[in-house]
Amino acid sequence: MQNPSLQEMLVSFHQEFLQISVREDAVTFETPGETILKQGREKSIPLVSICPPRVKAEDFFATMKQVAGVIKNFMPDLAADTEQIESALPVEPAGQEEFAARAFTPGVNLLTYLKSDVPPETFGFLLNHTVKPFMRQYAVNASKYFDPETWLEGNCPVCGGKPTLALLEKEKGGRYLYCGLCEVKWRFHRLGCPYCASPESHFFTVEGMEKYRVYYCDKCHGYIKTIDGARAGDSKLNLFWEDINTVQLDILAMREGYFNQQVDPQEPEK
Ligand SMILES: [Zn+2]
Ligand SMILES: [Zn+2]
Repeated sequence: MQNPSLQEMLVSFHQEFLQISVREDAVTFETPGETILKQGREKSIPLVSICPPRVKAEDFFATMKQVAGVIKNFMPDLAADTEQIESALPVEPAGQEEFAARAFTPGVNLLTYLKSDVPPETFGFLLNHTVKPFMRQYAVNASKYFDPETWLEGNCPVCGGKPTLALLEKEKGGRYLYCGLCEVKWRFHRLGCPYCASPESHFFTVEGMEKYRVYYCDKCHGYIKTIDGARAGDSKLNLFWEDINTVQLDILAMREGYFNQQVDPQEPEK
């Protein structure tokens, strides 16, 4: 039997991963006041820094356990790493409490909250996928506090993260960016690099995948996979699966020396 391709492995992993959802009330936050919301809009502060999501430690760790189970089942190469990480997680309630809170604070290195050194990439993968269902729910629960049509920034209005995908509108020719973590889509300028704001735009296409363009930037070396709405047909796009199903384009872009700006590995602290 042939080994499954990376693409096949990702698809089965994500099919299983999508079964993991959190309760609507698993994510709460303090209702933000009008003044702070206005300030946030003016200074382009993402929602996560205005009214941070609150998640109970028990919910967070239960979800992490589920995610770890899916990783071990569908990504056998990461099974040993995952076991190692699980045994390094805090077990006492206060430690778990702090860990779960920090997981939603931008820029915090959670590796320092573990009992021993673990492989940082696998840890980042596990953590991201644990945080994701909560962030998706947070974006839904807090949707009235941001406006995806007027945000116009290169980063996500909810988590502040970098976009993983872009979509060119069929009719009006506008562009939307998509956050792979929160699954939020927001309007952005039609041209220019969303990562470094360089006004230049180049893209390549791949034969047989004409529905997609890969825009790349020679200034910051970032790239963004982009769905050309005019070629996408009328079917409703599921951007989550569009991202997973175009991993081939990521590989091509990276082979050309561009890198996925969205991936922000947990740097081991010195
Ligand atoms: Zn986001
Ligand atoms: Zn750039």
